Amino acid sequence: MHGIGMSALGVPYGQKCIPPKGKAEIMPRTVKEWIGKNDDSKAPPRVRQRCHDRAEGKCHICGLPIGRKKWELDHIIALINGGENRESNLAPAHITCHKTKTDKDKKTKAKIAKARGRHTGANQPKGNIQSQGFAKSAKKTKIDKSAIPPLYYRPMFRKVKT
Ligand SMILES: [Zn+2]
Repeated sequence: MHGIGMSALGVPYGQKCIPPKGKAEIMPRTVKEWIGKNDDSKAPPRVRQRCHDRAEGKCHICGLPIGRKKWELDHIIALINGGENRESNLAPAHITCHKTKTDKDKKTKAKIAKARGRHTGANQPKGNIQSQGFAKSAKKTKIDKSAIPPLYYRPMFRKVKT
């Protein structure tokens, strides 16, 4: 292909450079994820809008469309359960659904705390769980005493004149 100069896009000069169809849709929008400065930081309206759009306007808890009802951004993994205050952990939810979930999250937290306490022995499980005890060994392993160096004889008592 001598004689025809190529543009940077690989299209010979003089030809119209038409972007491939649907390219605009394929190209990912480089939008930086919103991350709250702290757990109390409220997501700004644009983030609310993005989350709403991402969820296609549906409540992420009950799955029903939000429509014109009031809604809130919910932390998918509750902050109290180690979730992060960032866009990827936020989803829209009906106010009532949100409240129900928050109550559930609190219970989950209590459950986790209880389980953790059980593991550390901070609290004991109710009921009578009995220890299995040590397994009885079938064979008694004999210690080869010849391998142990002899101890110096040291009298434990001194003779006392009576
Ligand atoms: Zn809902």
